[in-house]
Amino acid sequence: MNYSKNDILEVNITDIGNEGEGIGKCEDGFTLFVKDAVIGDRVRVKIMKSKKNYAYAHLEEVLSPSADRVIPRCPIARACGGCQLQSMSYSAQLAFKTKKVKNNLIRLGGFDEGFIDSVMQPICAMEEPYRYRDKAQFPFGTDRDGKIVCGFYAGRTHSIIPCTDCELGVTQNKEVLDIILDYMNRYHVSPYNEETATGLIRHVLIRKGFATDELMVCLVVNTTEDLPAQDKLVEALAKLDKMTSVSLSVNTEQTNVIMGTTVKTIYGSETITDRIGDVTFAISPLSFYQVNPVMTEKMYRQALEYASLTGNEVVWDLYCGIGTISLFLAQKASKVYGVEIVPQAIEDAKQNAVNNGISNTEFIVGAAEDIAPSLPRPDVIVVDPPRKGCDERCISTIIENEPKRIVYVSCDSATLARDLRILCDNGYEITSLRAFDNFSQTVHVETVCLLSKLHEAKHHVSVKPDMDEYYEIVDKEASDGE
Ligand code: SAH
Repeated sequence: MNYSKNDILEVNITDIGNEGEGIGKCEDGFTLFVKDAVIGDRVRVKIMKSKKNYAYAHLEEVLSPSADRVIPRCPIARACGGCQLQSMSYSAQLAFKTKKVKNNLIRLGGFDEGFIDSVMQPICAMEEPYRYRDKAQFPFGTDRDGKIVCGFYAGRTHSIIPCTDCELGVTQNKEVLDIILDYMNRYHVSPYNEETATGLIRHVLIRKGFATDELMVCLVVNTTEDLPAQDKLVEALAKLDKMTSVSLSVNTEQTNVIMGTTVKTIYGSETITDRIGDVTFAISPLSFYQVNPVMTEKMYRQALEYASLTGNEVVWDLYCGIGTISLFLAQKASKVYGVEIVPQAIEDAKQNAVNNGISNTEFIVGAAEDIAPSLPRPDVIVVDPPRKGCDERCISTIIENEPKRIVYVSCDSATLARDLRILCDNGYEITSLRAFDNFSQTVHVETVCLLSKLHEAKHHVSVKPDMDEYYEIVDKEASDGE
């Protein structure tokens, strides 16, 4: 049968894709990818874009809902696109993420299913899968009627859907945004217009220290001057409980980058403080900091447990950011070397070490693959790379240094699978791994994996994994964005 654009079909959703989309098959095997459909739904869909064997289709109507279907808490969940799984019960979300990690290890890493089952611990779930983000960024603009709005960009566009209360963020976001909107209306302060590059307020960044309740507000502005009636804005914001820092970040560039490069504090301190475990962190508007500190702590405790440090070990923490994991490990190690490519993050890491009275860490700016070869030999290596995983040279250096244990913290189980394959072909075995749901309602899942050095001498053959299938998936994901 031929399937073309605008065709209306009815289909049962039987599977779920890596991006959370429902997957249904027509009788002749033709596959439909349906965003917002849940496994178990029977749905009516309209084909948007058709290829030879599959099509992307729009969910028109749920004819018979899945037992796992729930009503999204957020009224704009579908339009916003920030959350992909709000229509799915939390237990179904956890099952999806477990399966995603497992499938990637089997299909891309070439590991045996029975073996993965034997080493994989149950996913670590959130106690409350909403309101977990400590950071939010809201764009400002004007709607068709000329009204000032702030909210979220409608999935992959630059039109703003008004929303001051994201269900993933803290309740204080709304209080802050209401104050700013009121101030802008009252004193005729214009929002930024991307087309004309005029207007003053582009974005607002809000951060809350979950352990301290301290609040930070940073307005990203299209001017180097003070804002009109700036004192009135500051006065109103300062009345909020635990308001600790208000600042302006100047960004006059025509760019999608949200923050400017500098920050000017206009109330309180430059930073707010938060704690993960016993370690305190000073966070500025430009600092990288984990957005779910509660789950981050659980994840780092797992990494620490896997590292099983006695106090005598030399540890490398590659891709260390502001030293979050390094400082956590340093309390149980003899020496920790942290390596990170962003200079400002290393400045923060050094300052965080001083603030916490930790003196057995050394932080080095540079690419992990360039710096690692010159570091003293480690007993344990921890890596926490970005989505693209570890650089090949970095993996080679790890293998050559023969650490007893490797703890791999990953935010993308596809590249994790690729890297684990190489490590396991070169003298390591997976001892244990666990997925962490740090980002409920979204498709993202973190994984922490422990690898141990094999005792018996294994042939050191480097088998390159077959990446064709992986790139096929990456290409499919990319073409989704067309
Ligand atoms: N472990 C940290 C940060 C993890 S995010 C934490 O938990 O907070 C990954 C980090 O890797 C980012 O800070 C990014 O800047 C850094 N990075 C990216 N490429 C890198 C490279 N080639 N070498 C070292 N660091 C890199």
